[in-house]
Amino acid sequence: MNPEEFRTAGHAVIDFLADYHASLAQRPVMAQTAPGAVRAQLPPTPPTQPEAFAGVLEDVQQVVLPGLSLWQHPRFFGYFPANADLSSVLGDFLSTGLGVLGLSWQSSPALTEVEEVVTDWMRQLVGLPDTFHGVIQDTASTSTLVALLCARERTTQYSASRAGLQGEARPLVVYSSAYSHSSVQKAAVLAGFGNDNVRAIPTDDAFALRPDLLQAAIQSDLEAGRVPCAVVVSTGTTTSTALDPVAAVADLAERYGLWLHVDAAMAGTAMLLPECRWMWAGVERADSVVLNPHKWLGSVFDNSLYYVRDAQHLVRVMSTNPSYLQSAADGEVTNYRDWGIPLGRRFRALKLWTMLRTSGVDAIQARLRRDLANAQWLAEQIRAAPDWQVLAPVPLQTLCVRFAPAGWDADALDRLTQAWCARINSSGEAYLTPATLDGRWMVRVSIGALTTEREHVEQLWALMQQSATEVAREETA
Ligand SMILES: *Cc1c(COP(=O)(O)O)cnc(C)c1O
Repeated sequence: MNPEEFRTAGHAVIDFLADYHASLAQRPVMAQTAPGAVRAQLPPTPPTQPEAFAGVLEDVQQVVLPGLSLWQHPRFFGYFPANADLSSVLGDFLSTGLGVLGLSWQSSPALTEVEEVVTDWMRQLVGLPDTFHGVIQDTASTSTLVALLCARERTTQYSASRAGLQGEARPLVVYSSAYSHSSVQKAAVLAGFGNDNVRAIPTDDAFALRPDLLQAAIQSDLEAGRVPCAVVVSTGTTTSTALDPVAAVADLAERYGLWLHVDAAMAGTAMLLPECRWMWAGVERADSVVLNPHKWLGSVFDNSLYYVRDAQHLVRVMSTNPSYLQSAADGEVTNYRDWGIPLGRRFRALKLWTMLRTSGVDAIQARLRRDLANAQWLAEQIRAAPDWQVLAPVPLQTLCVRFAPAGWDADALDRLTQAWCARINSSGEAYLTPATLDGRWMVRVSIGALTTEREHVEQLWALMQQSATEVAREETA
């Protein structure tokens, strides 16, 4: 494709996407697609002759679009929001369209320096002290893996430069709450700790990690001759946005010499609001922190911010320095290849930069407060409704709810819960995620798509009541 063809096709793509976003609310939220249905519409072998781009775009409209669940829909209440502010979409286009790669500072100086500026803007916005330095990773999963690799190397005094974990006399242990994200356990396993050395610490009534039980677990590992290495606390767990007590865990981390990693992938966005900062009080004592602007904040995926207090340690763990990547500027610049796993980097800072500049912080804060207020409104409605329960505190924009009419035993309620949730999802009217809490099924309502206003939350609440009572009536008939 030459630049003139690109100009024509590119305008068509923008028009298509603008129309798509303008008409989202009229489409079903969840894809009404049977497994294999999309593949069946596509040729199994690649084309040998060129096709016009218009034909590709046509297939995107006719085949691909109906096969997508719509995360940007105003009645998307699933998982956590993954907002794509349209200004950040343009930033992403620019990043891709420029077609540059950051291998070293010299390979694209502005790529590195815009990232330095933007990660520092975000540091200020969430209230982290200037002792923290940031880098953009693809996902929180990667950020947490990097954190645990750094923890392992600090505790073992750089075992990787010797025999690695295989040369350690005693096993190293990682701690997190029973409700920490699955990426924590995955990172611990990938970093070589082994499943046997990952502890899931029980939680309190609010589903937050219990520091007394963390301390007991550390003590018992020490007595057994193991080496406590790292603890991951969640500011906003995935199931219920529970808030682990960062300061109390920081006390233990300091006392026992553990690496403290704060997983604020979702709730980190709330820290743009000064009134929410109590939720991670003590964070300045963490060794590393991750938060995802690609969730609620609105910078289109992928955009995960990883902050560390000791950047030199990070670089020492991650650095490689082959001759073909060395340059005269190396002593004076940041080489982000030494701040994470991949060598090549996309220009991810552009999409956050475009969003922050064209929205302005005031408007972003107002939107986050809107979503918090909508969640409180819905929680009040549900608490006041007979047979309905809000099962966990609602510090942010996610609710855990259950319809629990009298006379149903726990197993029957589990089936009822999954059935009314599935009915809403398959209707295409709204999208919710069922999940377990305390071993029992409930439904998560996560508010915060960019276009979700109070009216959409009201529609959802009507839909929930209607579906749940219908299903209950059918089951008892
Ligand atoms: C979403 C989430 C993650 C995983 O985020 P990715 O960027 O998709 O890897 C990790 N931890 C928490 C608490 C999350 O909410």
